[in-house]
Amino acid sequence: MENHQTVAKRNIKYTQLFINNEFVDSIKKRSFQTLNPVDCTKIADVAEADKEDVNVAVNAAKTAFARGSVWRKLDASARGRLIYKLADLIERDIDQLASLETLDNGKPYKDSIFDIQCAIDVFRYYAGYCDKIHGNTIPTDGNYLSLTRQEPVGVVGQIIPWNYPILMVSWKWGPALAAGCTIVLKPAEQTPLTALALAALSKEAGFPKGVINVVTGFGDVTGAALVEHPDVDKIAFTGSTEVGRKVMQTAAVFNMKRVSLECGGKSPLVVFNDADLDEAVEIAHNAIFANHGQNCCAGSRTYVQSRIYSEFVRRAVRKAEEKVLGNPFEESVNQGPQIDQAAVDKILNLIHSGVREGAKLETGGKQFGNAGYFVTPTVFSEVKDQMTIAKEEIFGPVQCIFKFETLDEAIERANDTKYGLAAGVVTKDINTALVFAQGVQAGSVWINCYDAVTPQNPFGGYKHSGIGRELGEEGIKEYLETKLISISVPTKH
Ligand code: NAD
Repeated sequence: MENHQTVAKRNIKYTQLFINNEFVDSIKKRSFQTLNPVDCTKIADVAEADKEDVNVAVNAAKTAFARGSVWRKLDASARGRLIYKLADLIERDIDQLASLETLDNGKPYKDSIFDIQCAIDVFRYYAGYCDKIHGNTIPTDGNYLSLTRQEPVGVVGQIIPWNYPILMVSWKWGPALAAGCTIVLKPAEQTPLTALALAALSKEAGFPKGVINVVTGFGDVTGAALVEHPDVDKIAFTGSTEVGRKVMQTAAVFNMKRVSLECGGKSPLVVFNDADLDEAVEIAHNAIFANHGQNCCAGSRTYVQSRIYSEFVRRAVRKAEEKVLGNPFEESVNQGPQIDQAAVDKILNLIHSGVREGAKLETGGKQFGNAGYFVTPTVFSEVKDQMTIAKEEIFGPVQCIFKFETLDEAIERANDTKYGLAAGVVTKDINTALVFAQGVQAGSVWINCYDAVTPQNPFGGYKHSGIGRELGEEGIKEYLETKLISISVPTKH
């Protein structure tokens, strides 16, 4: 696996802004460093876009969307073929892209491969959608024939986080391109490299210039400029609830942007006495430890019914202690570093608060190694609902295990959060599962599984976890406007 690391370093070809199908420096020639989270060393200097650069990129996207442009005149099926081509090119380059993803993000190489396969699936799902975006005919009052067209929203600004850099690009580009929009994407400053590599592939696939643009930089400058821009018709944001709220406020000030938000979570996973214990421990483990806990829908509150509680905790601890930390390019490693020191500090502070507030630290709770941003897999038992670790999104490898007695209590406590992204339930009783699934306030409910995220299923949050849905049929609606056309007719039959 070591040679993947060498491949990645050799393959850093794109570090400039991607505008109008060209890689260009920022106007002020500014750049920032992207670091390797394994050892905190510099990977590359990447162009830093400010307001003027964002103006140029938005202008390119606006021109590409103008009436009569190449993109607007393409048949929908031809748009689909371009997206299929992009998916094929990503598949061709999957090893290089996975190497780059692991280098920049720190996730195990095999996880990068998995993410990219999921991204390819998302692109193919939406490629097939392009010529199936139908309007309606309406049995309207009066002498009219009324019909609707589903039209692209226009220029969309897309802002994504660092936890699934390539996958998030596919969730954003797939539906936007299928709808016929043009795009300015801002990747996270921690992981800018793979979005730029995908931009290069979009050019190779044949997308007309200006349809896809990528501006790299920081949130409060590059991201904010995109949200403020009067020629951006919609913002699709994935990131923290705090920034999501700001995005929503700003989007209303300079024009009236459509907004979709995928934000944070504190998702409950509820395990009943009748569950197969090993299976339940495994589901709960993966629900929280996948991607080192850096997962918006992480099962970060594990509720276990009282009869099996002690044994569940014992097995959960054993499982957490089996994790192998280290260089994510090594095959045996299944937990790499967190994304940066700020993330490590936040996680450790929350762990300390858990100990202070009386939760029982069963294992972990420390920074690991002499370099890099590693945190040992951590399990808390005896967690109470009012503790800080029960309320705040930790976004790290920290399992919090609560005890409960009844189904009603489980639903009440599961809902006792400002978030509502996902929930899981493990039981052999279908009635218990369905009562829970109906009662819990969450955008996705997984029964006897977790993280069942697929291109066909809608994904998104209740409450402070967001607005709108991504993926599936609902995902594409976020990029469409409905236009009514009414035609006068002499009579109706
Ligand atoms: P973040 O909100 O700090 O950053 C996300 C993106 O927003 C980055 O590209 C950042 O540069 C940009 N940004 C920051 N400030 C901005 C501003 N003022 N204006 C415009 N853009 C700005 O989030 P993060 O810490 O990088 O990511 C972790 C968070 O993302 C977690 O809360 C997690 O739950 C959430 N997340 C949600 C989903 C989902 O689908 N619901 C998926 C992944 C991550």
